[in-house]
Amino acid sequence: MENLEITRIWIGLDDTDTPDYGCTTATFDDLINSISHLSNFRVLERRLVRLWPFAERRTRGNGALSCIIECSSESIIEFESLLSLFFSNLGDSLQNDGEIHPQTSPALVYSFEQINEDFYWEAVRQKVDISDRIKKLSGIKKLTLNSDWGLIGASSAMAWKSNDESTWELISWRYPENIGHKREISSAIVKEMEINHPETFVNRDPTQEKGLIAPRTPCPVLYGIRGSTSESVLSAHKWLQSNPAVEKCQRFAIHRTNQLSDDHIRGFSTSTVLTKPVETKGAHSSLEVTHKGNRKTLVAFKEGGDVNRLLRKLIPGDRINWLGLESPDGSIHLERLRIESSVPRILGRPICCNNKTMRSAGVNQPLRCLFCQKIVLKHWVFENINLTDLELTNGWVEPSPSQRRHLSRPLSLGEPVMLNLN
Ligand SMILES: [Zn+2]
Repeated sequence: MENLEITRIWIGLDDTDTPDYGCTTATFDDLINSISHLSNFRVLERRLVRLWPFAERRTRGNGALSCIIECSSESIIEFESLLSLFFSNLGDSLQNDGEIHPQTSPALVYSFEQINEDFYWEAVRQKVDISDRIKKLSGIKKLTLNSDWGLIGASSAMAWKSNDESTWELISWRYPENIGHKREISSAIVKEMEINHPETFVNRDPTQEKGLIAPRTPCPVLYGIRGSTSESVLSAHKWLQSNPAVEKCQRFAIHRTNQLSDDHIRGFSTSTVLTKPVETKGAHSSLEVTHKGNRKTLVAFKEGGDVNRLLRKLIPGDRINWLGLESPDGSIHLERLRIESSVPRILGRPICCNNKTMRSAGVNQPLRCLFCQKIVLKHWVFENINLTDLELTNGWVEPSPSQRRHLSRPLSLGEPVMLNLN
């Protein structure tokens, strides 16, 4: 009689790509395929998890992969030997002149129970100490090459729990012979796809008329389609693949992701502007604000578009709401910005004849025009802050889609539920 006991397994993988070759998403797909023949095998969920953008040893976008699978309990021994075989083959394939690229630290972890979710929260919001993480992972099966750095991403992706708000990304991979050649997918087709599939998002940057779904690196990914449901990304993918002008993919998979979750930031803050903005080299702007009784430097990058434009309009006394990520140097890299209230912008004294400014004879004296001798009470002419050149959503501005972090929630998805931190 067949034993129908089923075991659930969590698997995490990270850091298997080199700067110019491979992609952890494709390697993870290979891994799942290598165990898919196990008896009663089933994938419950595949996950693409983005982590703290400032992590030192990060890959582009700092993403890691994980999944939850099930198989017959009696296949566990085979499962474990397949995984170590897969990992040793991976090690061989990453060898170049007998060495693995020093920036690649592959790690594969698995567990027969859900590991502590805190591992995820720690790694999405701050720097993780590698020796501390290794200590906390004692008892969990780990395979690593080169160094242990990949363990942070692999275990954090495994620890993440999806929820009703979690988004989806369908990733398709290219035929090996196409890798390195230009991807056949025009921005016009991506635009049409988006119109026909309104539940997909961040496919394009309308400010640059640029499609964002296809990477520009020689990696095996053909495109990634993000959306609010798995059905929407699948139907957009089928629509694209049915178009003869679009490159055919070799394979694809749908991932649950923490993209657009804002998990990397804790909420927005309200501050008073203390200094005028300073433009640093590269047209980045920064200024100082009040923050929990101290001073804090807010930085907007040139690529931040409207965030940078709004920051440069601020003057001392303005009250702002802001959302951003604290960088290792302590400054805040802004991701969203809004004016709560602004102080009047003083233009000067009133103007009268010949475009000349009216002047006062001294303290407690009125303003007088030297030409027509008109007298008015002493006052300033001012204007309100001008925001007409900005694209505002409920008063907020954000960077253009191509400059936004994978983790950041776009304003177009509605005002995010945010905790006001002060
Ligand atoms: Zn006059």
